[in-house]
Amino acid sequence: MLNDVNIKKIVIVGGGTAGWMAAAALSRLMPHPEISIRLIESETIGTIGVGEATIPHIQHFNQLLNLQEDEFVKRTNATFKLGIEFVNWQKKGQSYIHPFGDYGIPMQGIRFYNYWYRHQMMGHTHSIDDYNLQIMAAKAGKFQRPERLQNSPLSQIEYAYHFDATLYAKFMREFSEKNGVIRTVGKVTTVQQNNENGFIESITLESGEVIEGELFIDCTGFQGLLIEKALKTGFEDWSDLLPCNRAVTVLSERAADPIPYTRSTAQKAGWQWRIPLQSRTGNGHVYCNTYMSDDEAAKVLMEGLDSTAISDPRLIYFKTGIRDKVWNKNVISLGLAAGFMEPLESTSIHLIQTSIARLMTNFPDRNFNEADIKYFNDRTRLEFEQIRDFLILHYHATEREDSDFWTYCRTMEIPESLKERMAIFEENARLYRHDNELFGEASWFAVMHGQGLTPKGYHPHANMMPAAELDQRMSDIRRTWNACLDQMPSHQNFIDRHCKSS
Ligand code: FAD
Repeated sequence: MLNDVNIKKIVIVGGGTAGWMAAAALSRLMPHPEISIRLIESETIGTIGVGEATIPHIQHFNQLLNLQEDEFVKRTNATFKLGIEFVNWQKKGQSYIHPFGDYGIPMQGIRFYNYWYRHQMMGHTHSIDDYNLQIMAAKAGKFQRPERLQNSPLSQIEYAYHFDATLYAKFMREFSEKNGVIRTVGKVTTVQQNNENGFIESITLESGEVIEGELFIDCTGFQGLLIEKALKTGFEDWSDLLPCNRAVTVLSERAADPIPYTRSTAQKAGWQWRIPLQSRTGNGHVYCNTYMSDDEAAKVLMEGLDSTAISDPRLIYFKTGIRDKVWNKNVISLGLAAGFMEPLESTSIHLIQTSIARLMTNFPDRNFNEADIKYFNDRTRLEFEQIRDFLILHYHATEREDSDFWTYCRTMEIPESLKERMAIFEENARLYRHDNELFGEASWFAVMHGQGLTPKGYHPHANMMPAAELDQRMSDIRRTWNACLDQMPSHQNFIDRHCKSS
């Protein structure tokens, strides 16, 4: 039985990916007749409509909602994603894949890439890609879900999805409404705050309807209607570190056989994405308008398409950074309202998911304990900063000198935390994963190596294995990995067999 301090009225403002993910999770985790969850969305304002590449953690969210994967894939026109290919990032003509999942297997307790470096120094030339099943499958256009096989790399395949953002929000909406979320279509015009403590008490819609709430979740996108316009929380601008501030997007026809990975191609003043869905391909060019005009950016995008455009180009403005407080008073911001970093590593939807999880862990009562709020804000900021550093690495560790944009990125002052990581790696290939950090050693290694950082040495214990044994083990791994690859069906075959959308 709920008491007087329990929150009973939750109001979510915004019906994009963030709003409907929050509605779905809350309605699933807080089913109680006395708790009402209302979601307000404006059809005239609309959603951002992009955000189609994900990372493997989204599977946990789907499991939480008890979604059936094949149905989810069909309903969202999804394809499978094994990683991201970065083309022309280190220098023109070079590319690498940042895969999900690890390389090789740890030996004698030491991470595999230390042995790989030693093997290279012994004169062997096998690419690191030959030891990662996700990369091998991506290159071969293959996919399968993990199989329950002991000690087989097939049991450890890691993957995510590319999906249609609009269909995803619709899917989440249906789920939420079935679980009792009340949807109201209307534009919020005014916000009423308590005179003494500034907490939001109610919002008023264009229709005149007043909606009261105890906890408000601001999912209104970049404008941050409650967190910023009403509460004037403040925003920390990271444009000096992640200077891209615009994107032009366009849809194009589906690729004959969709590739199981995202492609990110570096351009003169930013980069271009290609996200293959079952029904069509999503394309976008992220750039910095200091170095490229909107017209030129649209031209670059259109020239870089692999298939015929089926929509008009659309321009999106953004600023990278984070709200000074993601949670302020009785307003928690999620999604673009909380902050935004580049879509370079597909982390925004993930950040929505982790904020929802954190909200559930720290769910407030009507007293809104300041210590809980501070904990929530500190953890969220740390998570953002760790991802920010990882993104900066892609831009900063480059040899490109062919444009002012790349010269800026190559020579810009970077956070001490990243400087330190790069220096440690360049010395002896050490990578230290920080507590709860999203990207682990394999990811940092993939990007550092892919961007051309070469350590002077490697873990000294990797020298303890006799050379002949190391050679044998490396060749065994390659043989096993190749045998696994041979068994995998093509990505398209897998979709046709299990989850083809109609
Ligand atoms: P929006 O989609 O903007 O939704 C805002 C909602 O608020 C709408 O429903 C609107 O109607 C409502 N609203 C606004 N004002 C009012 C009002 N006054 N009254 C009532 N309702 C109102 N993320 C990824 O994870 N992977 C990606 O590949 C990726 N690519 C991206 C590419 C670009 C160029 C950009 C800009 C973002 C990308 N993202 C990506 C981020 C992702 O799109 C967002 O995190 C996600 O869509 C969440 O958006 P949102 O729900 O916060 O905001």
